[in-house]
Amino acid sequence: MISPKITISRVEKSRLPQIDFNNLPFGKEFSDHMFVADYEDGAWKDFRIEPLAPLSIHPGNLAWHYGQSIFEGMKASKSKDGVAMLFRPEQHIIRLNASATRMCMPEFPADMFIEAINTLVDMEKDWIPPSEGSALYIRPLMIAMDEALGVRPSAKYKLIIMTLPVGPYYPKPVSLWAEETYIRAAQGGVGEAKTAGNYAASLYPAKLAIEKGYDQIMWLDAKEFKYIQEVGTMNIFFVIGDKIVTPKTTGTILKGITKDTAIQILKHNGYEVEQRLISIDEIVEAHGKGELKEVFGSGTAAVVAKVSKIGYRDQVMELGDNTEIGDLIKSTINGLRLGTATDHWNWTVPAKGPAVSV
Ligand SMILES: *Cc1c(COP(=O)(O)O)cnc(C)c1O
Repeated sequence: MISPKITISRVEKSRLPQIDFNNLPFGKEFSDHMFVADYEDGAWKDFRIEPLAPLSIHPGNLAWHYGQSIFEGMKASKSKDGVAMLFRPEQHIIRLNASATRMCMPEFPADMFIEAINTLVDMEKDWIPPSEGSALYIRPLMIAMDEALGVRPSAKYKLIIMTLPVGPYYPKPVSLWAEETYIRAAQGGVGEAKTAGNYAASLYPAKLAIEKGYDQIMWLDAKEFKYIQEVGTMNIFFVIGDKIVTPKTTGTILKGITKDTAIQILKHNGYEVEQRLISIDEIVEAHGKGELKEVFGSGTAAVVAKVSKIGYRDQVMELGDNTEIGDLIKSTINGLRLGTATDHWNWTVPAKGPAVSV
């Protein structure tokens, strides 16, 4: 099968037989192939799928020095009938291009992105572990490729899509520290972009939070340290009484696709979801009154992760065992991926192989 637009060169020997699907640490095992495209002279070109291999990069590469680097994270899964399925892939290219615009990088053509993902996932479908909850994690990356020093937008870029088999993710409940010294994102900054520097900047405060005995940071707004933003690589939801609330994305919060999916699932099930400013004081008060029923994070990797406690100043808010709302979201998303839940939204699409030229 030949794609009219994507050149394919295959590995001579797959590494798949060496992979133990029962022991897959997240992020360490890569599949055989990657998609690559280059941006030069104002256009994307040389669309290709080739054996995954290290790149040779000049020490003056602009991405390394000045940080023009953006990424995405999505998953392909296997339906109960053994078909490789994608989940809302078009949302990921919309967000990748929004990140690109903010970082002064070129947009990537959406139709080529979708074709690349379809072709690559179809080629690598044997890399999708068969057990429920396992997936092929898809990591698109765009980096500057100019070889020159000087703070300016690069003229050359590379887009790479790699895929990694990942085992079922059974996240342990996470404890969160509400941070009042360091910030993740300020209004007008790059918080809404999935760009490398956001994660680099989070490492040191996260290390301090771990030293305090917490797993991750719950970020507060940069101006007043009052309004809750999000967590590491997850958006956050609170169940207060019979209301479900989640911070409104107003420019500083990553617009999670799982967050949007969760909101639509909850609404479909008759729940009301408020997207608004949520202050840490409101959470402390709700907890004090026994009204904070459930807190959870949402993101592609974990789908839903229960929050077990939140530390704020000298308070430790222990949260009970309730996982009702989080479980509803998680089981619905897993059911959609497996093809056992009715997809009212047409979110799941089979990964079709390359278009056959006739
Ligand atoms: C990727 C990410 C999320 C979650 O987004 P999904 O599309 O749901 O995977 C949330 N917050 C941050 C900071 C992220 O990088």
